[in-house]
Amino acid sequence: MTDSNLRLDALVIAAHPDDAEISLGGTILRLTAAGLKVGVLDLTAGEMGSRGTGEDRAAEAAEASELLGLSLRINLGLPDGRVVAGVEEREKVAALLRAHRPDIVFAHSESDLHPDHVAAGRIAREAWYVCGLRRLAQQAGEEPSPRPRHLLRFMGHLAFEPTLVVDIGPVWERKMAAISAYSSQLTSDSDDGSHFLFGADIAERVETKARYFGELIGARHGEPLMHDGPVPLGQELCPAWGALLSWADVGDSPD
Ligand SMILES: [Zn+2]
Repeated sequence: MTDSNLRLDALVIAAHPDDAEISLGGTILRLTAAGLKVGVLDLTAGEMGSRGTGEDRAAEAAEASELLGLSLRINLGLPDGRVVAGVEEREKVAALLRAHRPDIVFAHSESDLHPDHVAAGRIAREAWYVCGLRRLAQQAGEEPSPRPRHLLRFMGHLAFEPTLVVDIGPVWERKMAAISAYSSQLTSDSDDGSHFLFGADIAERVETKARYFGELIGARHGEPLMHDGPVPLGQELCPAWGALLSWADVGDSPD
């Protein structure tokens, strides 16, 4: 699923296939349901995952991408378990930001237990900055692009105080269907407790988190996000941010 110049409204930068679905699947679905173009960039193929193989995850990611309505899914092929936030890595990601020009970048929180998540969050932040540096872009033979207007963090292992919580109640079942596409990750027989969501019953743990954060905003299910830096007000809204802000009034009402 590639298109080298497709203009995106939002790009999710994740360390492993299934991170985007687990942490952000509902938000992605709300954006794609609004007709917006969303892409996911997986930095690794997840080949070192304790469950299933890299090939399993590639097939599963393709199925999940369909369910999420993604316009683009790219795998950068960095080594799973050894992601480093170096110059080469950030310049590869910066090149993709210049090519696809998303208004919003979703990235891992840099406070996380998994070193790949920490590195992926840092790569996203640094790529966000350097994609707008004219000389660097010209050196790479690329057109400089404006920096994405919003950098939003999604939650991994460690909790943070969210800047906003997205009501994902209306798309909850569809989020769980997308996660279920990763069947190799969901089996409990090979569980050694090392997965991103500790323990065997990933679906239950995803729901526990979603119910907790949903409760904070009076919704059945929610996904927490943290805005990097102050939220700008008084500026023209990009379509994706406008869709995020309008979600409070959309969908199922809480019980
Ligand atoms: Zn991960």
